[in-house]
Amino acid sequence: MIFYEKSVPAPESLEEEKQKANGTYLMEDVLEQLKKDFKNKCYICENNELTSINVEHLVSHQGDLEKKFSWENLFWSCSHCNNIKLQHYDNILNCTLREDEVEESIKIKIDPYPKSKVQVVAMKNDQRVEKTVELLNKVYNGTTILKTEEAETIRKKLLDEIRDFQSLLFDYDELDKEDEMERREIHHYKNLIRKHLKSNSAYTGFKRWIIREIPELSDEFGHLFMESNNTQVK
Ligand SMILES: [Zn+2]
Repeated sequence: MIFYEKSVPAPESLEEEKQKANGTYLMEDVLEQLKKDFKNKCYICENNELTSINVEHLVSHQGDLEKKFSWENLFWSCSHCNNIKLQHYDNILNCTLREDEVEESIKIKIDPYPKSKVQVVAMKNDQRVEKTVELLNKVYNGTTILKTEEAETIRKKLLDEIRDFQSLLFDYDELDKEDEMERREIHHYKNLIRKHLKSNSAYTGFKRWIIREIPELSDEFGHLFMESNNTQVK
């Protein structure tokens, strides 16, 4: 899970629809803005090629109109994640609030070899962090037979993406940074790495944690997304 900046003000239709007897929070302006703000990624699993899209309430509304039409409460997710979350996880971190430090609070990792499940680690002793860790574990590693099948599909794509990213880092590492002849290539690789670290890339959270854990790469690319610099790459 990574941070996303939620735009302001709220789409106009929300307030209008809230007043109606059968109003909907699924108006075009809402959908367009959510898709843009969340980079068309499921905010929970970070897949960026969604075949099923749900508008998710961070805190389930259960009929409460305030929660149902609150712009701050609307999120973009896939149905796999939405179905696991339902009303069971109302107390998770809010990835649109910087102060929740969602990226630093939870470490997410997968080892391409030997094949493993996703490791989700709480970096803070906090109830909301624990709850988010629990949800992410279910999303990436499964619950019921069907959800476990779906999780496996997510992990397959995740692994492909992480393998690509790691081989890119490996190739970049092999380049002689002092060699003038390789300048173009160094530049090219740096751009590719930067692209993977942007919030619109798939599974960015995993890639950023790879960088965080390697001091040389963290020195070189960490400024692109680390909170202390307050300038996240969008
Ligand atoms: Zn998802």
